[in-house]
Amino acid sequence: MGDPQQQQMIREAMKAIAERKPGRSKLVYDKTKRTIVAVVEGAQTPRALNITADDADMFAVVTVSSRWLREQWPQIMRDRVTSTLFSSWDDGDAFTQCNLGIHPAPSIIQGAVLFGDGIEPPDGTQLRVILTPTQNSNLDPSTFVAPDGSTHCAEGRRTSNNSDEAVTAVFVDVQPALATRRAGILETSILSDKSVLVFGVGTGGAHAAIELAKCGVGRLILVDPDRLSVGNVVRHPGGLSQVGRLKVKVVCDLIRDKNPDAQILTHPVALTYANVETMKPLIAQADVVICATDNRPSKLLVNKLCIEANVIAVYGGAFRRAYGGQVLRVRPRQSPCHECFVAAMPEESTDIEVSSVADAEEIAYSDRPVAIEPGLSLDVLPIANMVTKLALMELLAGKPSSLSILKRDFDAPWYLWLNRPEPGTQYASWPPLSESSDEMTINRWYGIYFERDLACSACGDFTSALAASYGIDAASLETLSSLPSKE
Ligand SMILES: [Zn+2]
Repeated sequence: MGDPQQQQMIREAMKAIAERKPGRSKLVYDKTKRTIVAVVEGAQTPRALNITADDADMFAVVTVSSRWLREQWPQIMRDRVTSTLFSSWDDGDAFTQCNLGIHPAPSIIQGAVLFGDGIEPPDGTQLRVILTPTQNSNLDPSTFVAPDGSTHCAEGRRTSNNSDEAVTAVFVDVQPALATRRAGILETSILSDKSVLVFGVGTGGAHAAIELAKCGVGRLILVDPDRLSVGNVVRHPGGLSQVGRLKVKVVCDLIRDKNPDAQILTHPVALTYANVETMKPLIAQADVVICATDNRPSKLLVNKLCIEANVIAVYGGAFRRAYGGQVLRVRPRQSPCHECFVAAMPEESTDIEVSSVADAEEIAYSDRPVAIEPGLSLDVLPIANMVTKLALMELLAGKPSSLSILKRDFDAPWYLWLNRPEPGTQYASWPPLSESSDEMTINRWYGIYFERDLACSACGDFTSALAASYGIDAASLETLSSLPSKE
């Protein structure tokens, strides 16, 4: 029913039906002819069908927040009318109450909810939602239950070009609806008291933060100093209309549009030693830290601070041009930390994606320039998903959940994923995915175990190890460990 002219004809026909007076002909939809025909009132038309809104989705829809209307109830009982704004989408095909989400349409219209048909709406009102008390206990989406328990059916009317069009009114209750969808896997409130701190909200970090909010995580702290550029948009969940905004603000809005009850704190702060005093209190508030930055110094700094604060951290990173990636989960002083990882697997730890000028400069130690060669969003998302899942497992630890069964699957500290057998890497000779059943291939996660470095300067007993290697008394080195460390 895409033809606007045909749509208009049907609307007029529907209006005629709605306003029909005794003795006039009646318009019905003839299923066989697939068209609207006029029949005389009272005539038997066995092959014709009365049109309802369900038969043909030709009405625009107006969506109103039930929570908002419950809050407005005392006022609407007193004044019989309350005004609100609606986003008008797709040439007036859908009207969404602006305070339902955070992204308004380019066109906003004035609307009003009226208690009864005889009420005059305020000047400039283009869309009316008219409430009529009903005894009908069949609650359909156009029925509203008031805080006093009374039920009301709603009818939408839109004024355009001096004519009045019917619009289907729908009430939505955001929070119960979102929570119900999650309830099959996660208890509705199981994660609402949890805080996750995300360092770096580029493609991977943004995806993880949004996914955790969709799972119902109640509090997200976003740290990233960068602004969204046109080049980012090819991968980042933020779009071209957001270019120039701080990435933390873009991601904050994306989360609020998914989970309006999430508490989100944004900090456009660089992860450097100069900002350690800003970072420390943020880490102290977090149940889990996600580090999705693309350079090693920032990861090692986050590692050091999280071990000091005894907060679990999950590190995700793509290899160059995102031919693969890795995820490391650090349970302080229980599993290998990021520095242990660098010591154990120096090759893997230096293979990082070059996705920005800053990253390229970071890596270009020699006089040879390093090209910016970001991978595809498609290849970053598996890694971001794994980061999210490991973070989720840590948040659910000790809580009853059907996901607890995954504890045995996510036991290893480090996970490897390959999108392709990149030439020139140690993985180039991996067998094809389609042929291999027992050898490592692309598109599979591998959990890999390695030991903590007991002499690790971040999580190990560095002083004792150093003393032992020089054959001296550890006590004499105690003063060294209390010196401030530098990068
Ligand atoms: Zn360590």
